[in-house]
Parts: sequence; structure tokens; C-alpha cells
Amino acid sequence: MPIKTNHPAKRTWLPVTATSDFPIQNIPFGVFLTRDDIITIGTRIGDYAIDLGALHQLGYFNGIPLTEDIFLQDTLNDFISDGKKTWRLVRNRIGEIFDIDNNTLQNNEDHKNIVLFTLDEIEMQLPVHIGDYTDFYSSKEHATNVGTMFRDPENALLPNWLHMPIGYHGRSSSIVPSGTAIRRPMGQTLPKGAEDPVFGPSKLVDFELEMAFITTDANVLGEPLAIEDAENHIFGMVLFNDWSARDIQKWEYVPLGPFLSKSFASSISPWIVTMDALEPFRVASPEQSPKPLPYLRQTGKKGIDINLEAYITPENGTKTIVTKTNFKYMYWSMAQQLTHHTINGCKVNSGDMMASGTISGPSPDSYGSMLELTWRGEKPLKLADGSTRKFIEDNDTVTFTGYCERENVRIGFGEVTTKLLPTFQAKKK
Ligand code: MN
Repeated sequence: MPIKTNHPAKRTWLPVTATSDFPIQNIPFGVFLTRDDIITIGTRIGDYAIDLGALHQLGYFNGIPLTEDIFLQDTLNDFISDGKKTWRLVRNRIGEIFDIDNNTLQNNEDHKNIVLFTLDEIEMQLPVHIGDYTDFYSSKEHATNVGTMFRDPENALLPNWLHMPIGYHGRSSSIVPSGTAIRRPMGQTLPKGAEDPVFGPSKLVDFELEMAFITTDANVLGEPLAIEDAENHIFGMVLFNDWSARDIQKWEYVPLGPFLSKSFASSISPWIVTMDALEPFRVASPEQSPKPLPYLRQTGKKGIDINLEAYITPENGTKTIVTKTNFKYMYWSMAQQLTHHTINGCKVNSGDMMASGTISGPSPDSYGSMLELTWRGEKPLKLADGSTRKFIEDNDTVTFTGYCERENVRIGFGEVTTKLLPTFQAKKK
């Protein structure tokens, strides 16, 4: 089953600007609430959201083996369970329906009124029910920076790091879609020089610029995935902000790793961009030395060229770009992460989310967290309004964007944007 929607010359009858993240070559999947308060699965072309549930009811997916209610759901989990062949058939069909040379829907005003929504008529939801969430630590530059700051510049990478994708099990209950404000967490910290911990609002809230992939039902309990097969079980990717409270993290993380310093919130972009859409942007990833163990050895282009940017916007202020990095810097690939995750027989389900870890590039202006950009706060960043930031302050908004570009085709992720509210204060009785 070939991918038919990626050709750079393909055009749609819907208006799409040259800088749009969502040309007809993208066709992402998401879940939204419509103007009639109905929740549905949809896609997006240009600035139109398209109701796939309605398109299916109108017969536009005839001939593709889909259950009647597959898009009339509040998550994509069942559709993702249908597997790669079905994702591709549906994406190809959407590409046909909206192709500039296809008049069927283009000339049917009644149907267009039913299936097309402008963005101000919808509200994006979480695209999947996330059963399990895992966060990796797969950027060599990031792991080296953190090891240099917190341990020893001579031995910045721990001995295991070059042999396997390091990760930890995170918390899925606090993953929220773009636009959902979060709160500065309370917690325990050990002030510098103090012997006893104190309790209060975290003083060092940070973002982590990451991407995450979403899996289908990959294996049965006890049966690992083979590296060659791993990518067949990845549906697509989103932008991922793994909010982190550095002061809480520093006090709690030994010996079992991050806990409450990470589980207060993570934010994602709401449209899942499929691996099929990202295929033209494959690139080589960093050479791995020492050579990984055989079960992690992967051939071909393991990386994807995705430009990533992070911005901070103070309340009533202007937006300042604070970093530019790229997903292609990742040392461990998604296939290696997923293979390693199942190598002990651990079961991976439809809708599971696996984040990359902070994506830092080689230069100081390409680091993926404030911790690294300001080097623990020693070098504050200057914002456009003249203020400075060591970490994220109350009522700041943090925005990530991501896009691939080649042969005049731009495939983007939209954005994940999140406001950090002050700590929750219980109402006095
Ligand atoms: Mn992280």
C-alpha cells in the first residue's frame, strides 16, 4: 500500500497559505469538540478542521474496512488499533477527497457545511486516551549538559547511557492539550547549604522541549518487538513540553529518578502528525559509538529533520524566541526506544505515549531547557520586553513550534502553548 498523499506537487481546493503547517501533504489526526458540542475525530487542512465522523457517515470512506462509529469517538485509540494499513488507506482517501481535481465534495455545498469547520468553531481535545507515558533521555547533548552541571564534567555521561535508551515511567493523568493552563507545583526542596528541606512553591519551574510518539498495540505480554518491526507500531508524533520543577527534582531524584518534579503537568500539541507524513524528511542520525547491542542495531535513516523552536511570552508582553533546535540531534531513535521498552516483554498499548527527552543541539542557543540555556540560572536570558528569565515565572506562556521543510513542502505540528499560573491557593473559610 503506497503513500499517495506526500507528492510535493499535490494541491487541494481548500485555501492553504505557503507558511501553513497543514498542507494536503500533512493530514494529521486529532479530536475536537464542534460548535454543536459534539466530539469527533478529525483532520486539518490549512485553517479548516474536517469532521471525519461526518465524512464517514456521508459515505466518503466507502470501500475501506472501518466500523461505522470509528470516528464518532472521543479518542483515536480504536482507529490506531486498526493498524498501519488502515491509517494509510484513510489518509490516502482524505488526500483524494480534498485534491484540487476532485469535484465531489468540492461542489457539494450541503456536505461542505456539515464537514468543514473554521478553527474558531472547534476546541481541540487530547487526541488519545494515554494509558501509559514513558519519558526517555535520548539527547546526548542534554544528558552531557545535565551530567556536567550536577555531577562531574569529566564523566558527564553515566556508563549505561551509550548502551541503551535510558527512560522512566511517567504519569499520564497530568498530560494536557495545548491551551490548558497549568499551576506552579508545591513540593519539598533542599535550599542551598541547608540541612533540612522546606515545603513551598517550586522556585525553578522549567520547560523541556521534547517530541513524543504514540503507539498502537505493539505486542503481547512477554513478547518483545524486533527492531526491524518497531516503526510499524508508531502512529505519529506530537510536540511535548515535559514541565519540570528543577529544585524539587534535585532533592527527590536519588535513587529512583524523577517523581513529583515531573508529574504535575506535561503539555502536547493536539494534532498527531503521522509517520507517513514525516517519511520524506528522514535523515541520518548521529553515529552510535560504541555500537549498540544487536537487539538495538538499526539500519537506514533513523532520524527526522524537524525544526523546533521555543518561545516565552510574559503576561501582556511580546513573544521572545529562546531556543532553536532539531529532532535530528537525537542519539537514540524512536525505533530503538520502543524496541528497548519491550525487550523485557513489557506490553505496549494503543495510545501509549513515549517522549524523547529534552532535545538539545550542539550549540548553547540550541539547548532544550532553561536549565541549560541559562546554565542553572547563571546566565539569565533577556526577553524582548527587557526583563530577564532564569526559569519560568508566574503567568508566563511557553510555546513550542515544530515543522519539517523540503522541496517547498512544509509539514508542521502547529504549536503547544501553555500558561504557567501561580501556585494553587485553597480558599480561606
Ligand atoms: Mn523530560
